Amino acid sequence: MTDWWSPWGQVLAAILVLASIHPATTAVVRWGDGRAVRRPWRPRCLTDDHDLAWGDVVPVVSWIRLGRTCRTCGVAIPWALPVVELAVVVVVGGVVVVHPGPVLVLLAPVAWSVVVATPIDLAHMIIPNRLTLPLAGWSLAAVTGLALTVGTWVDWRRAVLVGLAVPAVMLAMSLLFELVRGEPGMGMGDVKWAPSLGMAVGWLGADVALVFVYTTVVAAGVVAIVLLATGRAASARVPYGPYLAVGAVTALLVGGDLPGLGGLALA
Ligand SMILES: [Zn+2]
Repeated sequence: MTDWWSPWGQVLAAILVLASIHPATTAVVRWGDGRAVRRPWRPRCLTDDHDLAWGDVVPVVSWIRLGRTCRTCGVAIPWALPVVELAVVVVVGGVVVVHPGPVLVLLAPVAWSVVVATPIDLAHMIIPNRLTLPLAGWSLAAVTGLALTVGTWVDWRRAVLVGLAVPAVMLAMSLLFELVRGEPGMGMGDVKWAPSLGMAVGWLGADVALVFVYTTVVAAGVVAIVLLATGRAASARVPYGPYLAVGAVTALLVGGDLPGLGGLALA
């Protein structure tokens, strides 16, 4: 562990994780509705009509204390919001704990994007360009910065290769699906998100990238089997983002040594 990861580094990381909670819920609501997020650091009602007191945006606590409605305008605050708040702590906080150090400039924004993109994709079947495009640019800059400082160009090449391969495979599968079924298989939001996920897991190692691909495919397969078994496969529209999210969170938190992977692969 490097020297900069002193108690101060840990305190700073904890503050940044907590500070990213309100922007996450704001982004889920606004981007989901196709609206922009302006000044995400300012506490704002989810209707975007008025500001809030800082005491009204304490994660989870405020939601319970306010009786799940806004104090000022009375709008109902969906249960998904405190879930997103907790998910930031678990997923982004988890990544900070598992991967302390400079690599967080790459991994923390990607982890944050998982928490934001998943509920948007589940609710609206989109992953907004407002998230995926800046994140892709940031991730490429981050792997380049890491290669110049703490990493190597071998790491950079692996990260960029995985970052290109994952969306390429998804695009190919989507085109194949379209050819067979005659309807679009995949929203392009997933494909535009994939380079960032690929660069993050690719930077960590080929084994981590493999765990990402494996758990993504298994998650998709399990849901497909459930849909087939319940006879809903033909009608159900399932977004692909959540599978990528399962794969990314597993790879980022568990790493390349997935317990039971050998057993699963044999089964
Ligand atoms: Zn309000």
